[in-house]
Amino acid sequence: MRIGVPKEIKNHEYRVGLTPASVRELVAHGHEVLVETRAGAGIGCENAHYEAAGATVVDSAEEVFSRAQMVVKVKEPQPAECKMLHEGQILFTYLHLAPDPIQTRLLVESGVTAIAYETVTGPRGGLPLLAPMSEVAGRMSIQAGAHCLEKAHGGLGMLLGGVPGVAPAHVTVIGGGVVGANAVRMAVGMGAHVCVLDRDVDRLRLLDAEYGSRITTLYSTREAIEQQAVAADLVIGAVLVPGASAPKLLSAEQVSAMKPGAVLVDVAIDQGGCFATSHPTTHDDPTYVVDSVIHYCVANMPGAVPRTSTFALNNATLPYTLALASKGFPRAVADDAGLLAGLNVHRGRITYRAVADDLGYDW
Ligand code: NAD
Repeated sequence: MRIGVPKEIKNHEYRVGLTPASVRELVAHGHEVLVETRAGAGIGCENAHYEAAGATVVDSAEEVFSRAQMVVKVKEPQPAECKMLHEGQILFTYLHLAPDPIQTRLLVESGVTAIAYETVTGPRGGLPLLAPMSEVAGRMSIQAGAHCLEKAHGGLGMLLGGVPGVAPAHVTVIGGGVVGANAVRMAVGMGAHVCVLDRDVDRLRLLDAEYGSRITTLYSTREAIEQQAVAADLVIGAVLVPGASAPKLLSAEQVSAMKPGAVLVDVAIDQGGCFATSHPTTHDDPTYVVDSVIHYCVANMPGAVPRTSTFALNNATLPYTLALASKGFPRAVADDAGLLAGLNVHRGRITYRAVADDLGYDW
């Protein structure tokens, strides 16, 4: 199969769909790979590295999109990219369609077969292609939150771990999945007082077994969230309902009842955000203030550490990219129910239930 890798064009996005090492694996399996010039330059993967791995470097995104049978990317295609997709082509990337009606319509109109990394499921369940980015975002959320808590950034002026004789910050993590567990790991490591909430008691059991009395686990109810919001210095929003928009867990009134200078980091912003006052921000201008509460809502947090993120993502995507390239569509998805779960759009139809329901498409 001929596989194409365009340079990402979203603001501050330096990750790339395939590393030179992944290209080498694909080429060794008899596939052809077209890489747009300088697609990996932002993470130190130069054209020469791709050529050494067996790729053909081409001058433009148009050439990649028009010639490739499968396009492998990182972020959802931007409108200009959607217009270059065509019927019969496979698009393998993050899509996050539920909160994005414009992209959804453009993909439906293009006739492309779009497989979303974030809804592919693993042999033992879970979301194996979301997990590596969630690990990065979860770890970063505490770093970002700690930065926002500094006075110069509008925060309470608190050190997460306190110092001997001074209490640490109170960190509340809502959602104890991959993002949440990684946030908890960092917050505990920095000496914060940590409380984690989830609706899945098994998740809380695992975290309890790992950290014991160093954290508090709470079943996630409206009441527990409201009480935590008032007590917290830093709240991390880390919930997910697969494929659907994030549930709003704090209303505008509840946000305004938080401590002045407290910080909300809404990691779930890529699914619409889990706080009523959240709206997406970028690495250029990551924060804003509502009722004296600092909001950090960057939709592509792993984009800030693109080298780590690209290698982590490729570790997870490569087996699927190889299966799609070698077996083609539809055999690759017929052989793997987990990969089939990634199918969001096919030849003008939405093929993922939660997206169709959220955006009012026929099912
Ligand atoms: P996950 O499935 O591993 O964990 C989500 C957890 O949320 C689950 O344990 C689930 O039980 C819990 N949950 C669902 N509803 C809840 C509720 N009402 N209260 C408390 N917990 C609830 O998912 P994840 O990989 O940790 O991803 C979390 C979110 O982070 C997703 O929205 C994902 O898209 C997002 N994300 C964002 C970025 C970014 O750059 N902003 C990067 C990676 C992931």
